Amino acid sequence: MNFYSTNDTSLRVSMEEALLRSMPKDRGLYMPEKIPFMGADFFRRISDGSLADIAFEVSSALFGPSIPTGKLQDLVHRAFPFDTPVVGLENGKSHVLELFHGPSLAFKDVGARYMAAMMGYFLEQSSQEVHILVATSGDTGGAVAMGFLGVPGIKVTILYPSGRVSELQEKQLTTLGRNITAIEVDGSFDDCQALVKMAFADPDLNRQQRLASANSINIFRLIPQGFYYVRAYGQVKQYGKPVVFSTPSGNFGNLSAGVLAHKMGLPVHRFIASTNLNRAVPTYLENGTYTPNPSIETISNAMDVGNPSNFVRLTHLFDDSFEELKASVSGYYFDDGQTREAMLDVYRQYGYVMCPHTAVGYLGLRRYQQSGEDTCGIALATAHPAKFKDLVESVIHTPVEIPPALEELMNRPKHSIRLGVGFDEIKDYLMQTA
Ligand SMILES: *Cc1c(COP(=O)(O)O)cnc(C)c1O
Repeated sequence: MNFYSTNDTSLRVSMEEALLRSMPKDRGLYMPEKIPFMGADFFRRISDGSLADIAFEVSSALFGPSIPTGKLQDLVHRAFPFDTPVVGLENGKSHVLELFHGPSLAFKDVGARYMAAMMGYFLEQSSQEVHILVATSGDTGGAVAMGFLGVPGIKVTILYPSGRVSELQEKQLTTLGRNITAIEVDGSFDDCQALVKMAFADPDLNRQQRLASANSINIFRLIPQGFYYVRAYGQVKQYGKPVVFSTPSGNFGNLSAGVLAHKMGLPVHRFIASTNLNRAVPTYLENGTYTPNPSIETISNAMDVGNPSNFVRLTHLFDDSFEELKASVSGYYFDDGQTREAMLDVYRQYGYVMCPHTAVGYLGLRRYQQSGEDTCGIALATAHPAKFKDLVESVIHTPVEIPPALEELMNRPKHSIRLGVGFDEIKDYLMQTA
């Protein structure tokens, strides 16, 4: 399977190159040259399949000859030892798809772990070493750190803004050790991102080591996110109703992944793009004009994105046709007050605790279902409520339990390297540790 760029559809690069490079030189986004169509038979028999089983079948269709069958089996089972269960709020009508049973308690584990497994495979084949550099405002770093922990041939350095990530997120970045190093930058997330960009552009560093990124525009983080849409469909198809997914969105990788699965044949009646006040995409769906904005701070902060990096991919999946996009995707946005209200409503009505991002997804689903059409709705639950413990507790006035694996992490000592925002400092550090 080769990949092309959304800016140059005649370009062809190998799987390995798309994986390790993340972004084409023309600054487009990689797309698989052929999207395999999984037949109706596949979707009929997957109800009993685990996430790993689905990952294996779809990955075989995509990358079959490039990776031997036994290796691929091994790789997907190691990437996905956890499930993504659908939980009914009202069975047959409204459900949540829990994507937070991986080690960092957010859906980003799925993409990061698959990407790590694939990179590990290719590096083992070529005995190369790769240094992954990533800037994080919180969630991405944890998923990347835990996903790449102990993968041979890979060293990970994570830059995070000192004092601006939650205690729990910081523990996920700074307590793992082994091949994971955390750099605590005396600055903002934007400073961290700027430093990473400078490192990628620095000739000395690039001569000395092979730098790679693990950011969410990498197509290998996106493809595996389609697997849980398939898994969810398998769990609700018994109701025999049209299936609607509501995806709480920021950079729109998660929603694009669902659309990709739909293109592979997954029967989906409609996708709902649910956002907070960072509403560039819902507004586009309303009036056909795409206007990126500076990001606005909200309580669903992992979705505070003013100019979604996967917007191009989303429109590309609909052949850049606004009409086609509109025919499959609805968009709604909600403010923090509505989000808090929904968290409380859901807790009172169903005894179910949602993180603020999930609540935005639930709100989008509820709004869509008000049309009265009889659909089976699934809102994607993108993070465990314990990741946003203080906020959730302040809304539902009930203690939120921390899962045992995380509790254990909370007791480990923090290790980080503290640096300023000057590039020379970080460059020296990276040169010395190569
Ligand atoms: C990253 C993130 C999102 C947004 O996902 P995108 O793929 O960027 O749209 C939503 N919720 C949580 C909890 C996240 O960490």
